[in-house]
Amino acid sequence: MIVGISNIRHFGSITSSSGRKWGMCRFIHKEGWRRTIACSSASSAMINNNAQRDKEQLLVVVGGGAAGVYAAIQAKKLAPFLNVIVVEKGRLLSKVKVSGGGRCNVTNGHYVEKIHLIDHYPRGNRELRGSFFDFHGPLDTMSWFQNHGVELQTEKDGRVFPVSNSSSSIVDCLLHEAKKNGVLLQIGKVVTSASCNVNGKFLVKIEKRTADFVEIVETDYLLIATGSSKQGHALAVQLGHSIVDPIPSLFTFKIEDGQLTDLSGITFPNVKVKLILDATKSIPQFTQVGPMLVTHWGLSGPVILRLSAWGARNLFHSNYIGTLLVDFMPGIPTDDVKNSLFQHRDRFGKHKLSTSFPPSFDIFKRFWKYLFSREGLDGDLLWASISNKSLNGLTNLLKQCDFKIKGKGQFKDEFVTAGGIPLSEVLLETMESRKQAHLFFAGEVLNVDGVTGGFNFQNAWSGGYIAGTSIGKLSSENYLRMQALAGPITI
Ligand SMILES: Cc1cc2nc3c(=O)[nH]c(=O)nc-3n(C[C@H](O)[C@H](O)[C@H](O)COP(=O)(O)OP(=O)(O)OC[C@H]3O[C@@H](n4cnc5c(N)ncnc54)[C@H](O)[C@@H]3O)c2cc1C
Repeated sequence: MIVGISNIRHFGSITSSSGRKWGMCRFIHKEGWRRTIACSSASSAMINNNAQRDKEQLLVVVGGGAAGVYAAIQAKKLAPFLNVIVVEKGRLLSKVKVSGGGRCNVTNGHYVEKIHLIDHYPRGNRELRGSFFDFHGPLDTMSWFQNHGVELQTEKDGRVFPVSNSSSSIVDCLLHEAKKNGVLLQIGKVVTSASCNVNGKFLVKIEKRTADFVEIVETDYLLIATGSSKQGHALAVQLGHSIVDPIPSLFTFKIEDGQLTDLSGITFPNVKVKLILDATKSIPQFTQVGPMLVTHWGLSGPVILRLSAWGARNLFHSNYIGTLLVDFMPGIPTDDVKNSLFQHRDRFGKHKLSTSFPPSFDIFKRFWKYLFSREGLDGDLLWASISNKSLNGLTNLLKQCDFKIKGKGQFKDEFVTAGGIPLSEVLLETMESRKQAHLFFAGEVLNVDGVTGGFNFQNAWSGGYIAGTSIGKLSSENYLRMQALAGPITI
C-alpha cells in the first residue's frame, strides 16, 4: 500500500522487452510533492485488463554486480517469458571492472575440488560443504565464460584471468549476454524498500536520486544481490531476515617498526605466521603458511591477507591490536637453525657479521642486517665475538620473530566484507530465503567471504547461478500451471 497519497492519475504506460505493459501513474502526495509510479499488472488492474498479461511474471534483481547479473542471465535463459529487471544504483559490474588490478581474477583453477575449495572461505566454510559448489563450481564458471567467448588463463598460483588481461572482457561478456537474452538493465536507480503483500508478491520501491521519481513495482520474485551495501541489508531486514554485523576482511597489518618498513619491497616466498590476539582471553590463534611481503607501513602478501580473513572478527574485537609470530624457516627445525649459526661461528669467526651468514638460510642480506640489529648486534662485529646468548637470540628471531600489529591497513587489489545474511536463513540448494517464499539472495550480501585468489567472485557466480536456476524453474512451472488454468488464449 502506498501511504499518504491523495490523488492518483494514470497517464500512460511503458512496455517491457517482452511486450508487457507497465502503468505509469502520477500521484500527488498529501504533503504536496508529486511522484511517478510504474505499477505492474497485478497492482494496477485498471491498466492491465488483458488476461494474458496477468500470466506474466516478473523478477526484480536488486544489484547489478557479479551475482545479480549472472543470476539474471541464468533465470532469463531458463524462463524466456519471465520479465527480468536488474536495478543498479551505480554502474553495472563496477567491482568486476576494478577487480584484480583491472584484470579480474574470475575464479581459482587449482582448488576445484570442493574439499579443498571450502578451505578458502572463512565465512561459509562449514555451510558450503553441501551442494553449493557441486551445482556450479570453478570449472563450471570457467566453462561458462569460455562458452560465451572469453578465453581464460590459469596462473601458477591458481588464479584465473581473462587472456586479454582486462576485466572489460568479463564485463562486456556479461552485459552482452544479459541484453541478448532480454534482461532489462536499469542503472542510476536505488531500491529503497521492499515488502511482501498478501498475495505473496513483493512491492519494491525504486527511487532515482537525481530526480523526483519513484516507482513501486510489484514482483513475483525478488533477488537481493546487493553485495556489502547497507541498503541491501536493510531490505533483507524489512523482509524478516537478520544480519551478522558487517566487518572488513582482507587487509594488511600496520606494524610500527621503522627498521622493518625501511625494507619495503622484500618478499619472503614461504613463511609461517601465527596471529596472536589478546592472550589473556581464550581467543583462537590463527596460523598460515605462504608468501609475505614487507610494505612501507607493515606486512602484506597472501599469508597476511589469509590471516586477516580468518581472524577478521577477532581482529575487529581486538581493535586490530595483536602480535604476529613469524617463522622465516618453516621447513627447518629450531635445533638445526641454531646448529647452523653455531657452526658458522666456528668456521667463519674472522668474518664480519654484516657480510657473512649461513648460505642455507636463503635470506636477503637486507633482512639479515635487520635481524642482528634487533638482537642489538653491530654489523662490524666478528662472528667469533658473538656470544651463545646472542646466537640463541638470532635463532629465536628466525624461528619466531614477533611483530606488534598496531592497526589495519588497506589492500588495494581486493577488499571484501565479512558478515551479512546468515547462511542458516537461506536454503543453499536454491538460494531461496527460509523466511519468505520467492525471495532469493546471492553473493556478498550473504555471510560468506573468501580469501584472495578468485574465491569471492566464485561465491558470486555459484550463488547467482543457483538463484537464477531456481527462479527460472519456479517461473516455468508457474507459467505452465497458469497456461493450463487459462486454457486457449484469445486476442
Ligand atoms: C577493489 C576490489 C577488487 C576485487 N578483486 C577481486 C578479484 O580479483 N577476485 C575476486 O574473487 N574478488 C575480488 N573482489 C571481491 C569481489 O569484487 C566481490 O566479492 C564481488 O564483487 C561480490 O559480488 P556481488 O555481486 O555479490 O556484489 P557487488 O559486486 O558489490 O554488487 C552489488 C551491486 O549492488 C548495487 N546495490 C547495492 N544496493 C543497492 C540498492 N539498494 N539498489 C540498487 N543497487 C544496489 C551496488 O551498487 C553494486 O553494484 C574485489 C573487490 C574489490 C573491492
